[in-house]
Amino acid sequence: MKLDEVIELDKQYFMNTFGDRVPVCFEYGKGINLWDTNGKKYYDFLAGIAVTALGHSHPKLVAAIKEQAEKFIHCSNYYYIEPQAKLAKVLVENSCAGKVFFSNSGAEANEGAIKLARIYFKKKGMPEKYEIITLKNSFHGRTLTTIAATGQEKFQKPFTPLTPGFVHVPLNDLEALKSAVNESTCAIMLEPIQGEGGVNLLDLEYMQAVKKLCEEKGLLLILDEIQTGLGRTGKLFAYQHFGIEPDIFTLAKAIGGGFPIGALCAKDFVAQAFEPGDHGSTYGGNPLGCSAGLAVMDTLINEGLVENAEKVGSYLLSKLDELSKKYSFITEVRGKGLLVGVQFTSDISKKVKDLCFEKGYLVGMAGPSVLRLLPPLIVTVDDVNAFIDVLDGILAEFV
Ligand SMILES: *Cc1c(COP(=O)(O)O)cnc(C)c1O
Repeated sequence: MKLDEVIELDKQYFMNTFGDRVPVCFEYGKGINLWDTNGKKYYDFLAGIAVTALGHSHPKLVAAIKEQAEKFIHCSNYYYIEPQAKLAKVLVENSCAGKVFFSNSGAEANEGAIKLARIYFKKKGMPEKYEIITLKNSFHGRTLTTIAATGQEKFQKPFTPLTPGFVHVPLNDLEALKSAVNESTCAIMLEPIQGEGGVNLLDLEYMQAVKKLCEEKGLLLILDEIQTGLGRTGKLFAYQHFGIEPDIFTLAKAIGGGFPIGALCAKDFVAQAFEPGDHGSTYGGNPLGCSAGLAVMDTLINEGLVENAEKVGSYLLSKLDELSKKYSFITEVRGKGLLVGVQFTSDISKKVKDLCFEKGYLVGMAGPSVLRLLPPLIVTVDDVNAFIDVLDGILAEFV
């Protein structure tokens, strides 16, 4: 099918939630590259928004999905599921979690985290504790409850009334957080780095103080690692940068390498609050998704991709820092590992993104003035050098 025909079908039959999309339709991908219907080659520095961590169609991931699909694709959670049990084991053995539950998306994993935090206090005989403090500019998903958790009005306004029980405080402001805690508070929920909200980093001292506050007040610490988890920031989980452990954390995006799966992970003392019948999912933890997850985890851990994210991510940040010295309209380069934002003085991120696209580079935005880079964890120094040359040429047009 030609691009024009796809656009016509989309306009006629698909809800207009994504508006005018980037005018391209991809036909196949391999590694960091995608090819469109005209055979044009692209370098993917967005990775489906931090999803395709192994690059496109990684042979191990493809083989795992094929193999499981040929055996059987789905059975109910009424039955024991081998890949599900194995993936839970891998996650527990490589993190601070004691138990895992699988969902189909990030928002759904966060819904599970919120339910778990509430039920934990209900079962402790403290039903008055249900309120969760999250941050302004955060992003936790698009369901009715996760937009209530999300600290951005634009996602909430059209859908009120919102799920009650969420308050939002400014990032890195410990006093504001402390004064938001009251007798209803049950948990504090944070992204270790705000992705959608602009690639905003949490201070080390802040995160450590939040952990301490949770311990003092008997609150649960929930980390939304949907974007930061699984090697993206140069450690398997971003909480490892802070020397703290969450009580609950959520994963999605990279875990299936593109196959939709999410995970709710919790320490044993919290996880035990879920008893038979309290939570569930038809698709969540299905054999196909968990087989994909196992292939992704195996590749991430055993092929040095987390280390690569750290190494190539530092290199990318250093090259962007050089560009920021050259172009005064870059005010800051932020990020960790391969979760990177470039802050401009004005709203030019869409223009820069479009020009990158013309040159065959897929990049993202985090708001109108932040360029967002999320290449797959297999990205090389050579890929970065080639990208920086292209970006340099594009930025020169804005001088
Ligand atoms: C993407 C994202 C979500 C939502 O995940 P979906 O799979 O789109 O539901 C939630 N939290 C964070 C931090 C994210 O980056």
